[in-house]
Amino acid sequence: MTHPHAPGLWPQSTDLIDGALHLGGTPVTALADTFGTPSYVLDVPGLRARAAHYRAAFTDAFAPAEVQVYYAGKAFLSTAVARWVHAEGLRIDTASAGELTTALAAGIDGRDIGLHGNNKSRDEIDLALEHGVGRIVIDSLPEIELVAQRAAARGVRAPVMVRVTTGVHAGGHDFIATAHEDQKFGLSLAGGAAMTALERILELPELELLGLHSHIGSQILDADGFAAAAAALLGLRADLAARTGHMVTELDLGGGYGIAYTPEETAVDVVAVASSLAHACRSECERLGTPMPAFSFEPGRAIVGPSMITLYKVGTVKSVQLDGGSRLYVSVDGGMSDNIRPALYGAAYHAELASRASDAPGVAARVVGKHCESGDIVVRDVELPADVRAGDLLAVPATGAYGRSMASQYNLLPRPGVVAVGDGAPREIVRRETLQDLLALDLG
Ligand SMILES: *Cc1c(COP(=O)(O)O)cnc(C)c1O
Repeated sequence: MTHPHAPGLWPQSTDLIDGALHLGGTPVTALADTFGTPSYVLDVPGLRARAAHYRAAFTDAFAPAEVQVYYAGKAFLSTAVARWVHAEGLRIDTASAGELTTALAAGIDGRDIGLHGNNKSRDEIDLALEHGVGRIVIDSLPEIELVAQRAAARGVRAPVMVRVTTGVHAGGHDFIATAHEDQKFGLSLAGGAAMTALERILELPELELLGLHSHIGSQILDADGFAAAAAALLGLRADLAARTGHMVTELDLGGGYGIAYTPEETAVDVVAVASSLAHACRSECERLGTPMPAFSFEPGRAIVGPSMITLYKVGTVKSVQLDGGSRLYVSVDGGMSDNIRPALYGAAYHAELASRASDAPGVAARVVGKHCESGDIVVRDVELPADVRAGDLLAVPATGAYGRSMASQYNLLPRPGVVAVGDGAPREIVRRETLQDLLALDLG
């Protein structure tokens, strides 16, 4: 199998044949002909392999402790994706009625679903209780009373975890630990709100306290931040046991595992991180004289991000003169409506000519969208062949996470479909929106 340049960035089933990119055995030119552009293309075997790899990495590292891996559905959720990752042994994390409904529509048992959110509505809590979700992650003191009241009304006991803000924030190689929390999520460890919440939950017969939760950030590449957060949670668990005699049985250490978006970046080595984290948790439990709890994890980006690419068609190409050089502006038929991350966080991506081979020299290029904003950038800096022209296809790898899930209809562009390859014949698992779809919501 020949990979395009930057082999680590492309989904598992990517192949390069006579200069044309193939996914799941199908040339992208055929995918573009059948499904149109822009399209997201999901490599199903790649997605499933990543899900299985993450589950095995944590399960092996923490054995004999029990491990569950939840796929963070907010990265990208459809019923097919929920079924594929669930078939690999993952559960599904949701953070809204929409995500919860999608997981349920996929046929996932409520017990294998978690519900998150810092402002869950009464309807969302009722929906979760109606379907017997495996856990509701409590994010505030008022929510304790609300969930208890809704559980009482239904005559059930609600399984809950408490999201703790440990003061550890991570992303990239660094982490910082501060005593002060100035953000909307969770209950503060340092400020005492976490302990207050735990003691209140133990008083309420409608609530079953499963454990403690922490999510420290995203695009994290090493174990240090996770280990610091785990130590904080294990300490809180021991304190709670000393005060109340109740030893919680599970720690959820969240998601945030980093991936490579450009050839210069390296993805997290999850086997190494899981093993180092498990070691840190064992030593901390030994030091505290407490038994190892069960663990859960919530990767989103790392499962779906590298499993999907976006396929665009090139339109206008312009050379812009700069001091001492020039830049080729390559406009494609999508942009910030299908990938907001470059505009939102200055996120870097990579692009390659996908429909043909080219012997032309590489030139400095910027791939831009078709929206009415100069910040509508798809790839800020990339080298493309000098002869790139209208009608060519460009492929942008690693767009599976927070691409389609954050897509908008800005400029009233219909949102692209998601085409699954490598699982039988290529097919749309989320169909492309049409102009009629846009008008269907317009009540005049
Ligand atoms: C966003 C989020 C995740 C997933 O984060 P990734 O960076 O996609 O792995 C997991 N847990 C919680 C609570 C989140 O908010």
